[in-house]
Amino acid sequence: MEKHEKEHGTAEHHSSHHKAIDPWGTELVEDFNKIIKDFGMEAFDLSMFPKPNRVMRRGVVLAGRDLTGIAHAIKEKKKFYVLSGIMPSNDKIHLGNKVVIENIRYFQEHGAEAYVCIADLEANAVRGITLEEARKRAMEFHIPAYLALGLDEKKTHFYFQSENMDVIHMAYKFSTRITLNEYRAIYGEADPSRILSSLTQAGDILFPQLTHRMPGVVPVGFDQDPHIRLTRDIVRRMKAEKYFLPSGIYHKYTPSLDGAVKMSKSNPEAAISLPEDPKAVCKKINKALTGGRETVEIQREKGGIPGKCMVFELYKQHLIEEDSELQERFDLCTSGKILCGECKKFACEKMTHFLEDLEQKIIKNREKVNKLNFIRFK
Ligand code: SF4
Repeated sequence: MEKHEKEHGTAEHHSSHHKAIDPWGTELVEDFNKIIKDFGMEAFDLSMFPKPNRVMRRGVVLAGRDLTGIAHAIKEKKKFYVLSGIMPSNDKIHLGNKVVIENIRYFQEHGAEAYVCIADLEANAVRGITLEEARKRAMEFHIPAYLALGLDEKKTHFYFQSENMDVIHMAYKFSTRITLNEYRAIYGEADPSRILSSLTQAGDILFPQLTHRMPGVVPVGFDQDPHIRLTRDIVRRMKAEKYFLPSGIYHKYTPSLDGAVKMSKSNPEAAISLPEDPKAVCKKINKALTGGRETVEIQREKGGIPGKCMVFELYKQHLIEEDSELQERFDLCTSGKILCGECKKFACEKMTHFLEDLEQKIIKNREKVNKLNFIRFK
């Protein structure tokens, strides 16, 4: 490898005293600002994008990597793509997946070609799920759930990693572009199944560029950034091939109702999965950490503290679309006009409506899945 490439390639990597982000780990990330700084991401700048969606406006999306190219493509109506992936290892998804879908939709509505990868090879390699199981779960649950959450099946390209030979060939090729030490510098540890999965994901991320070189954005949780850095390094190593460096857009973890940061992998007693029995979710809402005061009298007098309240966080991130309605809720709380009991009842009603609607839509969308046009290697 040439010297200048080497230097360039490590430009985005944390210096050695920072702990690496583990995309397969279960650790809670507490301090997002530190991560943004340590790993050279950019804080998300709302003003870059036309008509930002709810999760962008509400601070759920809080960082990005190299988003100017994407903003430019939107503005100039240039070709670009949005791509994300899901590992079908559970038969549940969570509110974080909903955020990803909302962002895919946002970019799709602003001119992007949209791709969703079903990461069955990754699920097989790092979670020990058979390919058959992964396929069954994806067909019966994940894809219908993604459609139910608003992805348009006519405008979104779906594929299974195991069926996309282009992606697999790219992974092989990329394997010649990094060394084990460089891999370790990004991921901390290296084991063969993880290395294969990361290279395959780099293949996913660049796959839409095979036919047409163009900018692309990958909406994911924070923990997936190492894959984007790896892909960017690989692109720099293959200068002659003229791939565009992929961009990332990152959402923070939806807080668990008990106040812990990472909903998906934290206390199941306080996390909401999709779908879930509304009654069970309402029970969790009832036990949620709120910004309520010690006594009714104090709350009537001083009002609650929405900034400390997980119920308000749910309103903000997911349950209330309109900014004006959210403001009303905020005012009701801070003026002491409403107490937490009543407020939780309202949240439970909203949540129940959302969950029932989702459940029905998943069932309805199941029929569509067999008719989908999956991308396959010809
Ligand atoms: Fe939270 Fe509602 Fe209580 Fe305010 S009134 S602290 S928003 S539960």
